[in-house]
Amino acid sequence: MTTSSENKVGIVLVSHSAKLAEAVVELAEQMTQEPAPIAIAAGIDDPENPFGTDVIKVQEAIESVYSDAGVVILMDLGSAVMSTEMALEFLSSSQRNHIKICTAPLVEGAISAIVQASLGANIQQVMAEANAALKSKISQINVDEIVPDKNLENINNIEKENLSNTIQTTVKNQLGIHARPAAKLVALANQFQSEIILGNLTKNSQVINAKSINQVITLAVKQGDEVVITATGNDADLALTKIQELITNNFGEAEVIVKKTPTTLTTPDATNKLIGTPASPGIAVGTVVHYQPTIPEVEDYPVEYPEVEWQYLQLILETAKKEIQGIIDSLSNKSTTDKTQTDILQTQLLYIEDPTLLEQVHQLIVAENHCAAVAWKTSIEAMINTYKELEDPYLQARAIDIKDVGGRVLQLLTGESSSSLNLSQPVILVTPDLTPSVALQLKSNMVLGICTSAGSVTAHSTLIVNTLGIPMVVGVGTQLLSLATDSQIALDGATGEVWIEPSQTQLQELGAKQSQTFEKSQAPQEAITKDGRKISLMANIVGVADAEFALECGAEGVGLLRSEFLYLDRQTQPTEAEEYETYRAIAQIMGSRPLTIRTLDIGGDKQVPYIKLESEANPFLGCRGIRQSLDTPEILRTQLRAILQASHGHNIKVMFPMVTSVQEVRAAKKILTEVENSLPGLNKIKVGIMVEVPAAVTMANQLAKEVDFFSIGTNDLSQYVMAADRTNSKVANLANGLEPAVLRMIQQTVIAAHEAEISVSICGQLGSNPVAVPILLGLGVDELSVAPPAISIVKTVISQLDMSEVEAIAHSVLQLDGAKSVQEYVVAQLGI
Ligand code: PEP
Ligand code: MG
Repeated sequence: MTTSSENKVGIVLVSHSAKLAEAVVELAEQMTQEPAPIAIAAGIDDPENPFGTDVIKVQEAIESVYSDAGVVILMDLGSAVMSTEMALEFLSSSQRNHIKICTAPLVEGAISAIVQASLGANIQQVMAEANAALKSKISQINVDEIVPDKNLENINNIEKENLSNTIQTTVKNQLGIHARPAAKLVALANQFQSEIILGNLTKNSQVINAKSINQVITLAVKQGDEVVITATGNDADLALTKIQELITNNFGEAEVIVKKTPTTLTTPDATNKLIGTPASPGIAVGTVVHYQPTIPEVEDYPVEYPEVEWQYLQLILETAKKEIQGIIDSLSNKSTTDKTQTDILQTQLLYIEDPTLLEQVHQLIVAENHCAAVAWKTSIEAMINTYKELEDPYLQARAIDIKDVGGRVLQLLTGESSSSLNLSQPVILVTPDLTPSVALQLKSNMVLGICTSAGSVTAHSTLIVNTLGIPMVVGVGTQLLSLATDSQIALDGATGEVWIEPSQTQLQELGAKQSQTFEKSQAPQEAITKDGRKISLMANIVGVADAEFALECGAEGVGLLRSEFLYLDRQTQPTEAEEYETYRAIAQIMGSRPLTIRTLDIGGDKQVPYIKLESEANPFLGCRGIRQSLDTPEILRTQLRAILQASHGHNIKVMFPMVTSVQEVRAAKKILTEVENSLPGLNKIKVGIMVEVPAAVTMANQLAKEVDFFSIGTNDLSQYVMAADRTNSKVANLANGLEPAVLRMIQQTVIAAHEAEISVSICGQLGSNPVAVPILLGLGVDELSVAPPAISIVKTVISQLDMSEVEAIAHSVLQLDGAKSVQEYVVAQLGI
């Protein structure tokens, strides 16, 4: 019997009984709306004794439903399996690659597989669904009653029937099959097509899928345990030989391992000093508190198209894998990286690919219509609990890895960041990395300093930390994460040095350095060069709290309010009244001083939950900044209405981010004019744009005619000019504003702005770099907008400069061959 339909996975049922197979198909078809290609190879042509299986029938059945989408074969027992394996021998090897034998029970497995295939699912999904078919039955019935059916007796039975191959061996390495050996075993098993199952004979455990990292780890195989491994399929022999080799070689570990105390740090040198990248200046000494992101809350909703939801999750999982791979790559490039660090991350990749986990998630989405976030979170939490219940404390501790990787995926799914920070005393925060919304929770009186194992200097979280004036070192490496909580560390955010349990002498040296920094902060009142050129010195802020701080630090106003940070944790769009209140509060702090409010710069590495951005392959090149605002004009309109109303009696300006074309500016200005016209009695507001895309630089002469001012975003300009993702620590050294390529862009922008008689400011990180300040002044920049803590040092630098001198320096550095030469040149000329 054959029911055909194109481009869907074909299902073949091999059974001793034709009636049985036909009844299964009939039952499955009650549950499907669309046909699936199904073929039956059941019974034999002997009216006297019709029960049996026939190799030729199986081969014909496969061929009748064969397509590139593949074929899944389900069998009942005994000779059905043998006939199937023999039938495969008659097919070409290219066909065999598209065929999967499914070990699921015939009735449950076939029904699940047929339903999936009819929906157009791919072969992996059909297999996953069929393999998970017994789960709902198990969960309905007492599990203990089911276990004996899948225990080791079964393995022996299978072996006796000669249907597969089995090895039995003893695990000798000291920690047993813990996370890293498990990762190796799973990676190896996944290289073979055969189904591979593993059981712990010593514990007489349930057999598990050797291709599932979670199942292998939670089997908790210890040193000395006897394991049994069974492989079923064409390459079973080779698979078992390789697995035997791996186990015999102790998974590449020494047989006797000197057990490491997890709280002891392996430091690279005798001075107990680690080196990272300086990210926010200042010295901090304090006790370590580890911050591990937790899993965000999610709300469920019934999904209308479960298959689309499942595909969406696949995209997110791919993104998460790319992120992890990125960290692995950057670690692998560092000479200080211990291989165990990258192994841990490789294991995280396996968690994401784990078939058992994915089966559960798939079941929750497709069979129970949960949204992807809830399905993922539920499955991850169940997995975490399984780990926590394990006896072995080492394996229990692996729950954090699942939490880490699970949280990463959930954050991508929800756009939300992780848990809140509840600190009761001032500490140094040690964390893998910070997201902008976590950085926003930081209080500078509670967080003395921050050290991250990954991270980058121009990531938005780093910028926020700068704004808060908290010393920070990023990219220290994962050995940082094994520091004991409560250990003492010191860090210098200007040099990237981190001292573990610093000595008295080291503390004294750091104290002396700190007081020198303090003396530097006795800065002049105004930013005026020796020859009398006044530079406006503004602050970059993210909210009401740092508006006051900015004035305390000596800012003359706000050159950049990153408005998107005001609402990073909002589930719903702020109302016009709420936005107005915030802008008004900041404007009141500023009085008559300038306050430049940048409209939402969502996209790239920033998300707000109330705007659902589509997942993009290259978010920094996608719907970001003004592009996104023009996509949701109502949100822009609301924001502009709030800004305009708050501007009454204050010196507020509005600025559009990520501008690429003249048309975008005109479109945004059109909306602004409409809003202005709807609010009679208010003065016209000054309009500016961020120049941070190379296209805006090359079109600067035309753009300058459209607006009142330019503000150069050197963080983005550097990443786009140098084609180096600002959040990727591996290419962070390329995205450097001191590169002559970037400096030339700044020069071009300033010339165009001044020809059109508009002012030009720098609001990227480059403006707070003492080495860059003379160059920027020399290029003719009118204003600098920097993080509040940098104001005093920038003022001090400016007060020591002479315009004719800096113009000559700027002219010279444009001709140099790279950022390093520029840095050295300025230091040599000015001794900065
Ligand atoms: C910049 O790109 O330099 C800038 C100031 O904007 P942001 O860092 O917020 O992207
Ligand atoms: Mg920018």
